[in-house]
Amino acid sequence: MHKYFTVNTNFYGKTSPDKLIKEFGSPLYVYNEAIFRERCREMANLIPIENFKSNFSIKANSNIELLKIAREEGLHADAMSPGEIFVLLKAGFQPEEIFYISNNVSEEEMKYAIDRGILVSVDSLSQLEMLGRINRGGDVAVRFNPGVGAGHHEKVVTAGKKTKFGVNLDLIDDVKRIIKKYDLKLVGINQHIGSLFMDASAFVESVKYILEVAKQFENLEFVDFGGGFGIPYRKQEGQPRLDLKELGNKLAEIITAWRKEYGKNVRIKIEPGRYIVAECGVLLGTVYAKKKNYGHTYIGTDLGFNVLMRPVMYDSHHDIEVYKNGKPSEGTETEVVDIVGNICESGDIMAKERELPVIDEGDIIGVMDAGAYGYSMASNYNNRLRPAEVLIQLDGTPRIIRRRDTLEDLIRNFEI
Ligand SMILES: *Cc1c(COP(=O)(O)O)cnc(C)c1O
Repeated sequence: MHKYFTVNTNFYGKTSPDKLIKEFGSPLYVYNEAIFRERCREMANLIPIENFKSNFSIKANSNIELLKIAREEGLHADAMSPGEIFVLLKAGFQPEEIFYISNNVSEEEMKYAIDRGILVSVDSLSQLEMLGRINRGGDVAVRFNPGVGAGHHEKVVTAGKKTKFGVNLDLIDDVKRIIKKYDLKLVGINQHIGSLFMDASAFVESVKYILEVAKQFENLEFVDFGGGFGIPYRKQEGQPRLDLKELGNKLAEIITAWRKEYGKNVRIKIEPGRYIVAECGVLLGTVYAKKKNYGHTYIGTDLGFNVLMRPVMYDSHHDIEVYKNGKPSEGTETEVVDIVGNICESGDIMAKERELPVIDEGDIIGVMDAGAYGYSMASNYNNRLRPAEVLIQLDGTPRIIRRRDTLEDLIRNFEI
């Protein structure tokens, strides 16, 4: 195996990093369709049981062309905002294929989903009351907090004792009372314990827990276990993948036993975001400067944190590849460097103290596993333009799937 992920996977197909940047500009998000489809299928078939559905949680990446492919691969979708609902409908998803998981929303926002026939999940008693007031007699799902969380950083642990999410289990009687008061129909319950677990045991525990909770409600149509399936961000060190087969079989066993007891073939759902889209995305950037400051070697690039926020926001690690003259650099001569961006903040570091092949001005840097929470968290901070997005299609040729921002985009909302 080559050390470079993009070599092993023929990531760039018939083109190359330098050609892509020449044609579409730098920095640039590049996605590989074959890898994306493979990950969609893995999640669509995760649990070998009947009546199972995987919803793509599109906050990880809501490029409309990727959404169309995900739908083709049989996924449904989760939305977290009216904007995500709007984009999903544009991508061709039907209202019954969309699940709106709301958190602290206005009546107007809730109505936006209900008016379009989209099922809403609420995660507090006050929002359940709100939904009852505006949609008496309607369907609803409730998000519970199973009391166990998981995740790679405290900011993304979304269950347990320290988060704003979900209804606590000791409030089940209140949930039932409000449902009765407004003649609502509780069609499903859901949870999401956090993002990026590489050890599935916390997830399995939470599944057992939510299935216990489900027994307290009659006639549920679905139970939704949430997302959070991790990907190996340290592939260059040989980090192993989640064992999906083992996890799927284990879940199938638990669900089958539970369904027998519950007496109904209740639909089971999951909500993966990152797992589906992280590894099919690479962020390319260009080296414009190299310098030594007090013993540190800095590689100055156009990869500011406005383009990829994860390293600054979560101290995340992304593997780095170096390309020279369009080819993966296999140089045996290495040096320890910081890869930094062009934003006016000292924290603007994409990769810290990495031993990499010697890098020169003009080289291209590839940031791996950038497909999830990459473009979707990109901004115009420092009035920088968000990059274009390109898809390497199954035949190996590139297709632009979102244009780069223009300077005019920066003043679009002003009356000048
Ligand atoms: C973010 C989110 C997901 C997806 O999380 P990943 O870690 O990307 O799989 C799923 N469900 C809910 C409710 C979320 O907020």
